[in-house]
Amino acid sequence: MSWFQRTGKGINTPTELKREAPDGLWYQCPECKQATHTREHKQNSFTCIHCNYHEKLGSEAYFQLLFDEGKYTELDANMRSADPLEFVDTKAYPDRIVQTEKKSGLVDACRTAEGIMHGKAITISCMDFGFIGGSMGSVVGEKIARGIDNSLKKKIPFLMISKSGGARMMEAGFSLMQMAKTSAKLALLDRAGIPYISLLTDPTTGGVTASFAMLGDFNIAEPGALIGFAGPRIIRETIGKDLPKGFQTAEFLLEHGFLDFIVDRKDLKDKMASLMAMIYK
Ligand SMILES: [Zn+2]
Repeated sequence: MSWFQRTGKGINTPTELKREAPDGLWYQCPECKQATHTREHKQNSFTCIHCNYHEKLGSEAYFQLLFDEGKYTELDANMRSADPLEFVDTKAYPDRIVQTEKKSGLVDACRTAEGIMHGKAITISCMDFGFIGGSMGSVVGEKIARGIDNSLKKKIPFLMISKSGGARMMEAGFSLMQMAKTSAKLALLDRAGIPYISLLTDPTTGGVTASFAMLGDFNIAEPGALIGFAGPRIIRETIGKDLPKGFQTAEFLLEHGFLDFIVDRKDLKDKMASLMAMIYK
C-alpha cells in the first residue's frame, strides 16, 4: 500500500458539502479567545458564553436590549457640535467630527431616547465610545441635560449608561462646564423625587466619572468594567506608591463602597425594572 493514498473514511468531502463560514458568523472573545456563533452571542446579550466577558456595545445595542420590542423615540437626534475654540490638533476639529460621523454612523458620543421598559416609560441616555472615545463635549452634556428635562417633565425615571474616556479636549473648558450642567440638572431630578440610575460600563473615566456617572440614586456597573478618574500611571506617579491588584475594576470599586451592585448584562433589563418598581410608582 502506498503511503500517499488516503485510507481513512470521511476525509474526501465532496465539494458541495464543503461549507465556508461567512465573515461575521463567529465572535471571538478577546478575553478567553474562544469562538461563539454570533447568533448565540447576541442571544446571550453580547456576553461570552465561555467566560462571561461583556463585549463593549454602543447605544443602539443597549436600546434594543432595554426597550420593549426595541422600540423607542430618540430625542435631539440631530444635535451637532460647534467648534467654539477653532481647535486644531493633527486635523481641524470640524473635519474630525465629519470623519467620525462617516465612520461611526453617529452624530456625537451620546444618544438619548424615551421608550417603554417592561411596561413603564423611561428616558435612557447612552454614550457611544466609537465617537471620539465617548468623549464628553457640549453636545453630550446638552443631550443628557435635555434627557433629564424629559424625565422631569413626564415624571419618568432616568437611566444613564456611561462609557467614556472623559472630557473632550477639543472643547476644553466647554467640556468641563458639562459636568456642572448635568450635575445641576440631576439635582432638580432628585428634588422632584424621580429616580436616576447610573450604569457604568467599560470604560468610564475622567470627567464623566467625576460628574453624572457617580451621582445616581443607584450607581451600578457591568462586570469587569474599568472605572476611574485618572489613569493608573498618573496616580502611581502622584502618590509614589504601587497600586493594589484589580484597582479601578468594577469589582474593586464595589468592595470599596463606590458602587451599589454589579449587574450581569443578561439580567440588566429585569433588574432595572424591578428596581424601578421598588423605588418608584
Ligand atoms: Zn470569553
